[in-house]
Amino acid sequence: MHAHAAIQAKIDALPRRSLAFYPTPLHKLERLSGHFGVNLYMKRDDLSGRGSFGGNKMRKLEFLIGDAIAQGCDTVVTFGAAQSNHAMQTVCACRACGLSPVLFLTTVVDFDPQDVRANMLVNEIMGAEMHLIPPQKGSVTDAFKRTQELAAKRIGELEADGRKVYVIPVGGTTSVGCVGFANAVLELCGQMDALEISPDFIAHSTGSGGTMAGLVAGKALTQTQAAILSFSAFNPGGEEGEHAAFAAGMANSVLEQVGVPQRVGAKDCTIDQNYFAPGYELPNDLTDEAIKLLAREEGILVDPVYSGKALAGLFDYIHKGTIAPGSNVVFWHTGGVVALFAEKEILGNIRN
Ligand SMILES: *Cc1c(COP(=O)(O)O)cnc(C)c1O
Repeated sequence: MHAHAAIQAKIDALPRRSLAFYPTPLHKLERLSGHFGVNLYMKRDDLSGRGSFGGNKMRKLEFLIGDAIAQGCDTVVTFGAAQSNHAMQTVCACRACGLSPVLFLTTVVDFDPQDVRANMLVNEIMGAEMHLIPPQKGSVTDAFKRTQELAAKRIGELEADGRKVYVIPVGGTTSVGCVGFANAVLELCGQMDALEISPDFIAHSTGSGGTMAGLVAGKALTQTQAAILSFSAFNPGGEEGEHAAFAAGMANSVLEQVGVPQRVGAKDCTIDQNYFAPGYELPNDLTDEAIKLLAREEGILVDPVYSGKALAGLFDYIHKGTIAPGSNVVFWHTGGVVALFAEKEILGNIRN
């Protein structure tokens, strides 16, 4: 515990803005634990609050917005898909601190401008400046390139207007933001210690890789034995192993900021890409079943884009025995439930 206190002090010394409600609850899923023959716990970052929809990005945003304010910025520009949870949480965070949010959003799934839903609706209510970029001829890469060009142009305009702009990349995945999830591991360790349980597995959904990087750094910081299982919500692209190496680099820069000698490698980032098919924001049967099982056994909701797919992977690991009976498993609920109220295309067959 003494070692943790010293690490905590280092993290607490970094610029930060309190934006959400921590610690988030950790509780056992009694009925599903019985069903699967494991001790299944859920870490509820969906309940971190602000704007009603919580989510994992708030942990990164506490440090990112803290950094933005320390630098004297008044405007925040960020990126994502049209229904990005990160973008929505950035808007909430900005509004809570009097900063102006500007969003550049790539429309992966078509939407009806007469019937704006879910996170896009939240962004509108909160008055964010939104720029929507549709992929031309279905090329998402092309859309990302145009997004960057449009954003650079807009940032130039804002700066010419005397604004000081803080740019946050997709998912808030920077070495500053990822500290939030290393800090989250300390939070979880405290809760598990109080229950006198040590986790064997921590499972979660991964996208831009920042949550994973923070968890991997947190594992190294706390010497936690738990294996971190990261289930992809989409194909991160690049060469084989490139994304894991990127996340490991991010984790190492967190370790550097905290001032500890430990370092991690790409092999510490175990990314499973077998459960997101057919693609980002597109549903699959295993995910639909996982969402319904959790909802009908426990009365808890997860989204079909991120946590639902990770849950499908976790349940499959338990079925296959990759996770042995009797194991202590923590599923990290990263939020995103508002996607249940997004475009029908995103939803899947979860009604019957
Ligand atoms: C962004 C997001 C993730 C993935 O987090 P990354 O840090 O981008 O890897 C997982 N679940 C939900 C609900 C998210 O919004």
